Amino acid sequence: MKLEYLEVKKTAAKLKFRTKAFVDGKFVAARSGKTFATENPATGKALAEIAACDSPDVDRAVKAARKAFDSGVWSRQKPGDRKKVLLKFADLLEAHASELALLDTLEAGKPISDCATMDIPDTIHCIRWHAEATDKLYQHVSPTGPENLALVLREPVGVVGCVIPWNFPAQMAAWKIGPALAAGNSVVLKPAELTSLSAIRMAELAAEAGVPGGVFNVVPGLGETAGQAIGRHMDVDMVAFTGSTEVGRYFLKYAAESNLKRIILECGGKSPQVVFEDAADLDNVAKNAVGAAFWNMGENCSCGSRLIAHKKIKDELVAKVAALARTWRVGDPLDPRNRLGAMIEKPHLEKVLGYIEAGKAEGAKQVMGGKRILEKSGGYFVEVTLFDDVSNQMKIAREEIFGPVLSVIPFSTEAEAVALANDTNYGLAASLYTQDLNRAHRVARAIRAGTVSVNCFSEGDITTPFGGFKQSGFFGRDKSIWAHQQYTELKTIWMQLA
Ligand code: NAD
Repeated sequence: MKLEYLEVKKTAAKLKFRTKAFVDGKFVAARSGKTFATENPATGKALAEIAACDSPDVDRAVKAARKAFDSGVWSRQKPGDRKKVLLKFADLLEAHASELALLDTLEAGKPISDCATMDIPDTIHCIRWHAEATDKLYQHVSPTGPENLALVLREPVGVVGCVIPWNFPAQMAAWKIGPALAAGNSVVLKPAELTSLSAIRMAELAAEAGVPGGVFNVVPGLGETAGQAIGRHMDVDMVAFTGSTEVGRYFLKYAAESNLKRIILECGGKSPQVVFEDAADLDNVAKNAVGAAFWNMGENCSCGSRLIAHKKIKDELVAKVAALARTWRVGDPLDPRNRLGAMIEKPHLEKVLGYIEAGKAEGAKQVMGGKRILEKSGGYFVEVTLFDDVSNQMKIAREEIFGPVLSVIPFSTEAEAVALANDTNYGLAASLYTQDLNRAHRVARAIRAGTVSVNCFSEGDITTPFGGFKQSGFFGRDKSIWAHQQYTELKTIWMQLA
């Protein structure tokens, strides 16, 4: 598909949606027959009715997953053979890349230009990378004495529940299923109820690639029903969760109250971008800062929502950020010229507008934006919003807004900058800008965050682990070989030699 407005709209109009659960290699309705509506946040209109799975459906999927796992059809397959299937899966994702990009654009209100050039290519790359790793990982022999042989093996955990958010629907699915499937597990995935379509289609394509029935199941449904049922299921060995810190906590409780399943959490953030007075090129800083704050409408866990700027350069930087931010068009996500689409749903739009009001009420200086726009479209659009002279104690600086709202916070000394950066419950990502190599290393180590980028905004790439310190996460990392390993259990085989 050419990234041209009319062609994108035409292709979108022809899409057919898969709306049922995918269990044991087949599409199935929810046992109750119930469905729930999914809508297009750019129009406010219904898109499709999706199977509303609940505990009986989760149970059916877990049983299929367990049966497949125990049979060894995937879990004990030669790594090189699993690799071939997963590479074919990646090829099929690539062949349907436009369709997947459109599904995420339609359901999540994300700009097609992002979905087609970043989200889906990254989704495919993620599956390919973990597939490639499958037959390159060696196991260990322990340095015992001569009378023993100790093998330290990594075995798949078993049945893995994946519960994911709506902000990067296909990509978040890939970050979980890529390493989980590559390691030989069976998966039961619950997409966010606002964005089920791409995950269901991915399961269908995986089956077409040769992933055996029961190995990759998708159960769409609400968090409190299907999500909770996964969290509390006695035969789910592990849950990999991405979403809010608030819901992440529930999974620790579910595990404690059920079977002590392993839990890994990837949660929210309030990421600082620290700009020192010696930053090399303020135009480049502004470009990165705008990208960090407004990419994906700020509906991004690593969103650089706090711009902590040295007093000497702050005003110049704010002017540059505002000038650039004004060029980021907001509008129909199907129009490739738009950099921002719609907020995910009306309640979320209202939440974001509420934060903007709180910023004004607490005395932050509003530089631009602040209003709902394009209301006639029926969609949930909000202006790119910039606040200056924010104190780190204000609500807009402390809470995850998950919208296109950037707060500028001034500082005078390096120690103050580090203290401000760390004065948050979160610790997912951070950026810093300086030409001083010593300072770059010093500050990068002092900031308590899972990823610190220097002189840019980045989440790294597929080779680097991604996850958070403090309340941004618990125990795990997505991406890289570390992600792969967390879907395995360590086993020691201790042998007495004659
Ligand atoms: P959310 O926590 O509301 O929902 C996430 C998932 O949990 C959804 O599938 C939802 O249905 C399910 N859920 C909701 N309530 C549940 C319950 N009571 N029991 C079981 N499951 C339940 O998050 P969201 O609004 O979908 O996504 C936004 C959040 O995700 C933000 O906080 C963002 O920072 C975070 N996020 C983090 C990362 C990361 O890598 N750290 C990446 C993307 C998004």
